[in-house]
Amino acid sequence: MDPALGPPSVMSERREELTPMMAQYHDLCARYDDAIVLFQVGDFYETFCGAAETTARLLELTLTSREDSTGEYPMTGVPVDNAASYIEELLEAGYRVAIADQVEEPGESAGVVERAVTRVVTPGTLTEDELLSSDDNNFVAAIAAGDGSGATDEPGGDPDADIALALLDVSTGDFLTTSATTPDRIADEVSRFTPSEAVVGPDAPADLAPERCMVTPFSPAAFDLEAATEILRSYFGNPESLVASDAEIRACGAILAYAEYVRGGVSGDGEGASTEMTQTDNSDGVEREHLNGTADATETERTRLEYLTRLRRYDSREYLLLDAVAVRSLELFEPRAVHGREEATLVDVLDETESALGGRTLRDWLRRPLLEPDRIDDRLDAVESLTQDPRTRDSIQEALRGVYDLERLIGRISRERANARDLRSLRDTLATVPAIRDAIDGVDCDRLTRIREALDPLEDVRRLIDRAIVTDPPHEITEGEIIADGYDDDLDSLRETARNGKQWIDDLEAEECERTGIESLKVGYNSVHGYYIEVTNPNLEAVPDDYQRRQTLKRSERFVTPELKRREEEIIGAEGRADRREYEIFCTVRREVAEEVTRVQSLADALGTLDALCSLATVAAERDYCRPDVRARDDGDARLEIEGGRHPVVERTQDSFVPNDGRFDSDNRLAIITGPNMSGKSTYMRQVAQIVLLAQVGSFVPACRVALTPFDRLFTRVGASDDIAGGRSTFMVEMDELATILREADGRSLVLLDEVGRGTSTADGLAIARAITEFIHDEVGALTLFATHHHPLTELANELDAAFARHFETTQEDGEVVFDHEIVPGAAQGSYGVEVATAAGVPEPVVERARELASGNADGSGGDQSPDTDSSQPHPLPVSSDGGDDPRDVAAELRALDLGRLTPVEALTELDRLKRLLE
Ligand code: ADP
Ligand code: MG
Repeated sequence: MDPALGPPSVMSERREELTPMMAQYHDLCARYDDAIVLFQVGDFYETFCGAAETTARLLELTLTSREDSTGEYPMTGVPVDNAASYIEELLEAGYRVAIADQVEEPGESAGVVERAVTRVVTPGTLTEDELLSSDDNNFVAAIAAGDGSGATDEPGGDPDADIALALLDVSTGDFLTTSATTPDRIADEVSRFTPSEAVVGPDAPADLAPERCMVTPFSPAAFDLEAATEILRSYFGNPESLVASDAEIRACGAILAYAEYVRGGVSGDGEGASTEMTQTDNSDGVEREHLNGTADATETERTRLEYLTRLRRYDSREYLLLDAVAVRSLELFEPRAVHGREEATLVDVLDETESALGGRTLRDWLRRPLLEPDRIDDRLDAVESLTQDPRTRDSIQEALRGVYDLERLIGRISRERANARDLRSLRDTLATVPAIRDAIDGVDCDRLTRIREALDPLEDVRRLIDRAIVTDPPHEITEGEIIADGYDDDLDSLRETARNGKQWIDDLEAEECERTGIESLKVGYNSVHGYYIEVTNPNLEAVPDDYQRRQTLKRSERFVTPELKRREEEIIGAEGRADRREYEIFCTVRREVAEEVTRVQSLADALGTLDALCSLATVAAERDYCRPDVRARDDGDARLEIEGGRHPVVERTQDSFVPNDGRFDSDNRLAIITGPNMSGKSTYMRQVAQIVLLAQVGSFVPACRVALTPFDRLFTRVGASDDIAGGRSTFMVEMDELATILREADGRSLVLLDEVGRGTSTADGLAIARAITEFIHDEVGALTLFATHHHPLTELANELDAAFARHFETTQEDGEVVFDHEIVPGAAQGSYGVEVATAAGVPEPVVERARELASGNADGSGGDQSPDTDSSQPHPLPVSSDGGDDPRDVAAELRALDLGRLTPVEALTELDRLKRLLE
């Protein structure tokens, strides 16, 4: 048991003796025993004992202690006002955090201040803007198996025994579900969305969660079909009409229950917004029982998340399936550290969005490229139209710059966490809509016209906020100055009273000066004594009878009069009532706006889509991309033609990029690509896959001309040498990935195999690579690009009907290799690894020796270089037993090197070391 979690044992042992406050802490820790409890004591969130020690260490805080009649407890705390960054660090360290707020004012009731957990912060359920990336979703996933029996991985078993996945972004309200028949397919779907937390029930395999994803075991009761149906119905009506299986109901229901659980039962300060004036704590305890599965979810009073208005079921077969390996090796979202330097990602290249809404839409499109040519063309039409019309695009983008994150705004408004500024941000966003509508007006494109129609400016909502909320309201919502004059009669008259009173006081000084004849008389205010009249000592004689002494200072006395006192009370009373009235009005307005949640969400959708389309158009125009011709395959041939293709990411980091063609069809579907290290094989293969992927996203592509039939699935196996960052370069991993490809790929797949067989000895590697190639050709039929440094494999190009060879040309100038980066027909003639060493400045004797070794003439007599030479075949030489810097030592070392298994980096490092041996 983690000492930071659960009630401290020193407290449990003497629970009865604890002071009331410590008893409260102890009990909250016991209830929220999977989280670190941050316990509000005034301006601080405190932790004690084991939790304090852990917190102090993780957050680099000083450990102090708290002493009371029962003992001394280690303690550390963070300020309530800027707890967010501390909470973030605890989350990063893998903890959940339960926020126990004071839910009544100190002194409000006798005894200890009431505290309650107002929310549990977990990685998957964050809503704090400052803890979230704005242009990406933050999903929590729930995984459930069909009937709860757990018998799910039987192939061909009961079709109802699906595994379902539900995904929820609590900050935006995005809610999705899908299912599959095997755990592997669910794992693939999970990896598309990279949830930061996975909630699992009793029967779901926890290992479906990807790395860096917190696994949260949750109440079995929440996964119960009946309970799940009930909660789902309470949000969306009849669940059967929304989802396809019991498993989906159970996953969706459980995730809703979890989302409600972490939101806690009372409003608090969790989001940095103001605390509410009235707080009721009626559900916290009940919620927790629910987590423990002892209460029926349907009977508890819950924190409803009203902004969850849409549940979208999708069928994973409607999208290009990208597994985690493909997402990583194609660098969609995460850069791979290539040869030690960070490179940009595909999403970086494509993201020219102006709003968070657009950023998230774009990422969703990239995660789920389409299969249907009609849907793809629909996007392409809009992108084309916007590409050709830079002025329209500019004015749309200009307006989009004023668009706030509507989804998160309406989420906050709906959760009653929004302040007046949030409402103004909503209003400002709505104000941009007419300009955007105008910009699209008259554009000849169906898709854009439909978006225009969906751009509802929500005039009524905007007018409401305009009338109700002042232009530049303060952050706090309980201290007034947020509601505009003229919106509410009661408020106006309270303000009038306060104003009149203040005016009377403003006039008082002049009147009293005149009445008393004391010219230096002043009227002032201080927070302790309120309003006063100040008379300096020399003038005290002239003070009238109705002045009552309040305060004596060194050189003066302060007085009040009964009338001043009366006015003051009137002002304070009116102001206090005005503040409360403002708060009431604000809450009403906020609720009224919250009622429009569906309209706001539809608007957000339309804006996000438009922004993403503009982004694609901007990239297409600026980077000289072309519109791909995407045709349905029906049952005809698979086709992929690329003229002048470029790698979208590499071309941006390269001074000049050499475009390359690619032509594949059912009769030419297996390309065997050879060429020396660094000639461009990997780049070429990835660029082919990225072009396909972009085309299916509905984006223009970096090429002169592209025509293709959509692929269903994209597989990649990137060899050990190119997967340094992944740290997964073991032979097992390679074989595991290959097995998946061989099992699951078919004629509609695109397969990239880069240096397969590298992770083992050369002979094995060769055999495996050959067997795989034959199998893919004969049985799988997938369109395949196979890069290899095993030259004998190029023979396969002749032996297999649909296979063909391509290689990268290099020219030699003065014995040095120049990379053309140009792909040409036929197989490469031997490996130029040794020449690369020359280019890198390795001394001539070493290179010379290496050349001999590579050519198979180890005795140093030189000889012809055969294309079939396998550079890593052993060529025994007498090993020098001399110590020191005998060049023959170097030769021995060189001989021992298995070039087939060295990465370029390793090779350079090795050569560098050898070079120094000679020096
Ligand atoms: P290989 O897989 O054959 O070892 P890479 O594809 O990793 O080679 O390419 C090595 C380097 O060559 C890349 O990092 C890039 O800088 C450059 N490069 C590759 N292809 C091209 C190209 N078509 N035009 C220009 N530079 C290229
Ligand atoms: Mg490579």
